[in-house]
Amino acid sequence: MRGSCNQLGKVGLLCAAAALAYTPIAVGQARPLAGADVPKIYERLLKQIDQIPLYDNHSHATFPDDSDMDAQATPPDESPVLRLRDTNPEFVAGAKFLFGYPYDDFKPEHAKWLIDKKKAVEAAGGTAYWDGILDKLNVETCLANRVALAPYLDPKRFHWVFFVDSFLFPLDNRDETGKNPDMGVYIPLQEKVLHRYMKQENLSSLPPDLAEYEAFVRKTVEDNKKKGGVAMKFEAAYFRSLYFSDPPRDKAAAIYSRFYSGGVPSEEEYRTFQDYIFRVLIDEAGKENLSVHFHSAVGIGDYFSMRNGNPLNLENVLRDPRYSKVNFVLLHGGYPYTLDAIWLTAAKNVYIDSSLISDYVYPSELKNILKQWISLYPERIMYGSDAFPFNDTVGAEETMWLAARSTRTALAAALAELVSEGAFNEDKAVELARMYLHDNAAKLYGEKP
Ligand SMILES: [Zn+2]
Repeated sequence: MRGSCNQLGKVGLLCAAAALAYTPIAVGQARPLAGADVPKIYERLLKQIDQIPLYDNHSHATFPDDSDMDAQATPPDESPVLRLRDTNPEFVAGAKFLFGYPYDDFKPEHAKWLIDKKKAVEAAGGTAYWDGILDKLNVETCLANRVALAPYLDPKRFHWVFFVDSFLFPLDNRDETGKNPDMGVYIPLQEKVLHRYMKQENLSSLPPDLAEYEAFVRKTVEDNKKKGGVAMKFEAAYFRSLYFSDPPRDKAAAIYSRFYSGGVPSEEEYRTFQDYIFRVLIDEAGKENLSVHFHSAVGIGDYFSMRNGNPLNLENVLRDPRYSKVNFVLLHGGYPYTLDAIWLTAAKNVYIDSSLISDYVYPSELKNILKQWISLYPERIMYGSDAFPFNDTVGAEETMWLAARSTRTALAAALAELVSEGAFNEDKAVELARMYLHDNAAKLYGEKP
């Protein structure tokens, strides 16, 4: 091997220098450092990226006083990250962009201007207001993750993602509720959603055996699809581990029969029952051609378990050949486990979105995450806003703006660096941007790009 370029030392260095001297840069190997042309490429790409209509894979588009916005609520003692505090001055910029807000802060006497405006459009009714917000942000389609679709959301633009965790909590939940103050808030709300589904399906009490309970679960999913549902969503990471075992049906049936009318199941019994019902839901999603969404990032509240919420817990489900026809979507890209999450998308039926990450971190950091994702599986990544109202002033409108603006700029920066480093050219960069911002989601939900 003497004299080979693979050999370390002086000879190798000489070979490398010779290769650089004779290889035209445009078709050479990608370089580890971006060049001085990054700002110019960024400006050119951003102009094109701004023209791409967004397909928002995850939002809670809502007025702040609408309790159907989510199946759970903010826990009693939340510690929001710096950028997601309502004191973030970026939200003022959002209000200026969307509404021409005339002040530079949200002092109560100023914020009143904005609150009055929003209350007036809510009172006026109709779907034009939220369609207008999408138009201002160049969002074509937006998935609305809600307990029920709202009359003020235009079903042509807003597609419904419904919650299914409540089916995991039909038994006596006192042990679950008592685990910590967050569960004390979450679990009663799950019970409420379950009762709402029971009412929808004309059930006044829980059915007496597992077969009938399963039929109720499947029928609710079927009916929610008929109402316009495009995906089911699990917030399970807030309540338990995302690791779901595969228990035999008899075991689950025995637990259900013993406890459906009373008595508190042990932790192990409840898990076994839940793991079985979880698989019924996944099976039904496959039959109904519904995507399955998971909250897959660190969540709010002081008791959120990062270990239990780690998306790698889902590996046995995502890699199960029985579910190869079910499309899974890891919302929030598994943050902070974003690298683990992108590798989970190596399976053709697994997708991730960048919702919430674009609000947790500033665009400079989102840029780094997107560089990695785009370099690995660009067909599996999607845009999402996780738009959500904080209060009457900072609404889902402003958070939707924050996510859209942060994502477009971070994406332009990520692609500009990759182009400058010699990974691909600007045409390819725009093609990749289109896939991430719109086409991958449009394809997944069966719409023509
Ligand atoms: Zn969300």
